[in-house]
Amino acid sequence: MRTSGCTSAAGVAARYVVSYRCQEEPVNRLEIDWTRCDGHGLCATLLPDDVVLDEWGFPVLRGREITPGELTNARRAVLACPALALRLEAAAKTDS
Ligand code: SF4
Repeated sequence: MRTSGCTSAAGVAARYVVSYRCQEEPVNRLEIDWTRCDGHGLCATLLPDDVVLDEWGFPVLRGREITPGELTNARRAVLACPALALRLEAAAKTDS
């Protein structure tokens, strides 16, 4: 018999739990530590779909989800940030 692969916290197979809902995969989003960011703008160059610069050269995040296919480039940008201000955060997906 095939199951959905979901198990409850107690380890009960999902087929026996009527109202059980699989936990969503977390989504990755970029975050900036404003206490560190010096406005070098490198992140906007490396991730033009996710970051634009404001009129003073500081990054403005578009706030969209980083897809699995974009994770490698996003991680490279995080590592390249000269101020260690850029980071990837995994957050629970919201149903809105
Ligand atoms: S690369 Fe880092 S320091 Fe430069 S603007 Fe982006 S977050 Fe700020």
